[in-house]
Amino acid sequence: MTSTVVLLGHPVAHSLSPRFQQAALDALGVDARYEAWDIAPEGLSAAVARLRERRMLGANVTVPHKVAALRLVDRPDHLAERVGAVNTIVRRDGLLHATNTDVHGVTRALAEAGVDVRGQPVVLLGAGGAARAVVVAMREAGAARLTIANRTAAHAAALADIAGADLPVDVCALDAADASLRAAMAQAVLVVHSTSLGMRHGPDEHATPVPAALFHPGQAAFDLVYVPERTPFLIAAEAAGARTIGGLAMLIHQGAAAFRLWTGQEAPLDVMFDAARTALAERAGSEPGVSAIDGGASQ
Ligand code: NAP
Repeated sequence: MTSTVVLLGHPVAHSLSPRFQQAALDALGVDARYEAWDIAPEGLSAAVARLRERRMLGANVTVPHKVAALRLVDRPDHLAERVGAVNTIVRRDGLLHATNTDVHGVTRALAEAGVDVRGQPVVLLGAGGAARAVVVAMREAGAARLTIANRTAAHAAALADIAGADLPVDVCALDAADASLRAAMAQAVLVVHSTSLGMRHGPDEHATPVPAALFHPGQAAFDLVYVPERTPFLIAAEAAGARTIGGLAMLIHQGAAAFRLWTGQEAPLDVMFDAARTALAERAGSEPGVSAIDGGASQ
């Protein structure tokens, strides 16, 4: 019997996961189909119930279902509980286990770039869904202090709650003129960008929340946005001599961790990166005025 893995989201048509996950399944000869299911919020409970069918290996969960899915599974692990959201469900022994591999995606992307935040201050720009995994990853990595800058102060304050007692958090305005943000940027070894500014088809494709003047040489700048691959935030950081890390590495590593849980096999990372880049280039090619190198789709 051919097995099935599904993506639960709304919408799902733009997702890269079906492309790189199917490529990885095929490359290892796993007899499984990765299907994208567009599920409105009112249909989530029924969709999760279908994951209990025998053919199901599990699922990915994406916007807007990550938080709601946490309460629909049988066994969320400590990372899912800590983040307050799940992105991966695995059917095992008749039960739905769940975790949040976005945390692993952040950790691996930073490790590959040689960034070590243990005992060091970090700045996080943005406080949406993706930022939650960053906070937990910084806590697990032993960062000394986290400054969260966000447009809506209440969202940043809510994130401080999931940092726990081990990771002291300061909250400030997402404003390049803000003295607290400038001081935190001057000290941080790592600046993570998790707003949707600079994202293709996002609120402002050409914007970075912080200019080059706030970065310094030797600092690492990590953008969760991965379309385009070179975002305005990364271009600003690069201009100041900072090291840059794009969001595609996080996307692939969260997917690879999910793949391991569903199949019990190591994910073929090269196959996944190639498939994702090919899909981005195809989309760019079909979109007027977008160069292939920039990609051409939102997440
Ligand atoms: P989200 O939950 O909607 O959060 C959006 C964030 O952007 C919030 O902090 C929001 O601030 C801020 N924002 C939106 N418009 C803004 C504006 N005009 N000015 C200033 N701030 C603004 O989105 P998300 O799921 O966290 O995703 C954020 C980005 O991360 C997206 O580009 C997504 O593609 C990317 N992402 C990447 C990965 C990966 O694997 N690399 C994974 C997940 C997400 P407020 O709180 O004030 O609304």
